[in-house]
Amino acid sequence: MTYIHDTIVKLQKTSPAQAEFYQAVEEILDSLQPILETNEKYKKHAIIERMVEPERQIMFRVPWVDDQGNVQVNKGYRIEFNSALGPYKGGLRFHPSVNASIIKFLGFEQIFKNALTGLPIGGGKGGANFDPKGKSDGEIMRFCQSFINELYRHIGPTCDVPAGDIGVGAREIGYMFGQYKRLTGNYDGVFTGKSLLWGGSLVRKEATGYGCVYFAQYMLEDQNQSLAGKTCLVSGAGNVAIYTIEKLYELGARPVTCSDSSGTLYHETGINLATLKELKEVRKVRLEEYLQHHPDARYIPVSDYPADGHAVWRFPAELAFPCATQNELTEQDAQALIANGIIGVSEGANMPSTQDAVEVFLNAKICYGPGKAANAGGVATSQLEMAQNASMQTWSFAEVDEKLKVIMKNIYRNARDTASEFGEPHNLVLGANIAGFRKVADAMIEQGVV
Ligand code: GLU
Repeated sequence: MTYIHDTIVKLQKTSPAQAEFYQAVEEILDSLQPILETNEKYKKHAIIERMVEPERQIMFRVPWVDDQGNVQVNKGYRIEFNSALGPYKGGLRFHPSVNASIIKFLGFEQIFKNALTGLPIGGGKGGANFDPKGKSDGEIMRFCQSFINELYRHIGPTCDVPAGDIGVGAREIGYMFGQYKRLTGNYDGVFTGKSLLWGGSLVRKEATGYGCVYFAQYMLEDQNQSLAGKTCLVSGAGNVAIYTIEKLYELGARPVTCSDSSGTLYHETGINLATLKELKEVRKVRLEEYLQHHPDARYIPVSDYPADGHAVWRFPAELAFPCATQNELTEQDAQALIANGIIGVSEGANMPSTQDAVEVFLNAKICYGPGKAANAGGVATSQLEMAQNASMQTWSFAEVDEKLKVIMKNIYRNARDTASEFGEPHNLVLGANIAGFRKVADAMIEQGVV
């Protein structure tokens, strides 16, 4: 389609060298063809042109002093992408791979994901190319404080509400909130993913993983299937992967893998959740140590991965849950999964499957839940945290979990029904993209040319 081509060419000129961002835009535009062709209003109001341009991009220097007394400098970002549906909402990622392209792709995805939750939240994302690995607690604190010394002036409970993402958990949120409070004098719900001691919500930590499993459950139910007894591949070993594994066990499935940046673990009888939590949440060490506790497991170091993909996707299973990072599942991985009889994929990470891998899943007509739908439970529960903060209430675990289930069911149904409306009932990529887009686009039109 020429407008897709034209849009990407234009972005390549005006926002050069942002491959991941173009990938996210292309995927959305590809899905929007049927609705753009029949709705002149979107063209007339230049919705696409406006949507691909963030409302505001903040880029800043983050200087800090390491434990040796040396000055270090990182690049900080906050992309306030779209506020048609509510305050900018989205996480902060601290990872050495962070650059403008990564933050923009994440922020762009966030717009549609947040719209799909049905909750009043706009889309944003931020972070820094800071590597938390091997840093002391003091270094993490000083980095977070310096990051907020700039960011504090741009955020607030009714304008921009950051949360965690890769490399940012409750500890980092604590240091950032402390500095924000010191600089502004405000004790308010400016962050989500906070500690339960001071304003956090129950279930927020578990929500992305739990939500992604609920999404799989709803997809399977429509095929008269269930999670019970299913062998599952999970990638990642962070917050999303851990609570995906926890919920899979609760619903009777058997997760047999997880992975980190050094390798993949395969445990045929099922990953031991207590050991995984001890290694990753408490001791923060490499997965390889799992073998000391469970010698019957196998560990595949990154150096032994297939040249065209990831070891984790080459084991036989019925379901796959990519919960690590973007583009971690290649076309060849997708083909291997299909050859091994996969029946469903539910994405806990953001854009974990390459465009070619997505095509393989869609052509095979398996149950495929794209990240912006399947992993929306995290940000949805963040909004529940905002609601509790604003009304000075605290809800029970069961109450929040119940709301999360309802939200995930609605997201699934919305994506499924929209896919059917446009004649491709199995295509949840199309359904999720159109459903999310329609809501944001119509809100933008109603709010005028801003
Ligand atoms: N980083 C998460 C995401 O990708 C959560 C964002 C939030 O809770 O604001 O959706």
